[in-house]
Amino acid sequence: MKFNDYHAHTSLSYCCDIGITPRTYADVVQRTDSLESVAITNHGFAIYFPEPTAWRWEFMTDPAMFDEQRDWGNERLLRHLDAVDEFREKGLRTGVEVEMMSDGRLTVDPKLADRLDVIVGSVHWLPVSWNTGGDPGEILDFWLAHTHRLCQAGIDVLGHPLRWISGQVDGVPKEIVPTIVEMARDANVAIEINAHYIVETDVPLIREAARTGARVTFCTDAHRRDEIGRFDYHLELLEEAGLTMDSLTFWQPSRRA
Ligand SMILES: [Zn+2]
Ligand SMILES: [Zn+2]
Repeated sequence: MKFNDYHAHTSLSYCCDIGITPRTYADVVQRTDSLESVAITNHGFAIYFPEPTAWRWEFMTDPAMFDEQRDWGNERLLRHLDAVDEFREKGLRTGVEVEMMSDGRLTVDPKLADRLDVIVGSVHWLPVSWNTGGDPGEILDFWLAHTHRLCQAGIDVLGHPLRWISGQVDGVPKEIVPTIVEMARDANVAIEINAHYIVETDVPLIREAARTGARVTFCTDAHRRDEIGRFDYHLELLEEAGLTMDSLTFWQPSRRA
């Protein structure tokens, strides 16, 4: 069985351990029989913004900030993509993990899309949340509408689909899972099963993906050395859900030849 990991970070992402580089991943792919490829998908906000600005999230509601940073970020991203492509023959793939800003644009310059094998779209911050005093219904509605629009915004993979909402409301309603899977399916976007931060809805999520034939990806979302190339959680989850690898339709990249 060969795994392909389409979501992993290097130290270019501010939340990743120091010293993790494309070479770190290439070495793991080379020595791990069960690992075929890894896409390096650093955060768009870390590529386009210096660290203090990135964590303030103002760019989410003020996308003009992204335009101001675009040339700076493109230069950083191109340098990084060149570094990843040096290991293409050794199983590395290029990518980004992006947010969708309030105007519907992603935090990557679309001009560089043809250099990317995968665009993971995720939610890490929204302007309506428990810390802004939102009530659970309001937060759920905002997040659902945002996720729907994110699926239509040009992403390939919906990263950790229920992580953010799981931290916002107690007991995410079960009916949400089929809604999310359908949103992704309709937009031709893959559902990610993410091992970096696990949530209660992972079992119903993988079952619904199997039931509907929605495409899925097993991703490590590695931020630490001990997470690289590890699919133990995905295999445990399959067992818990009463499924096998053959029950699922796995997504494959097609942006680059
Ligand atoms: Zn993420
Ligand atoms: Zn990530």
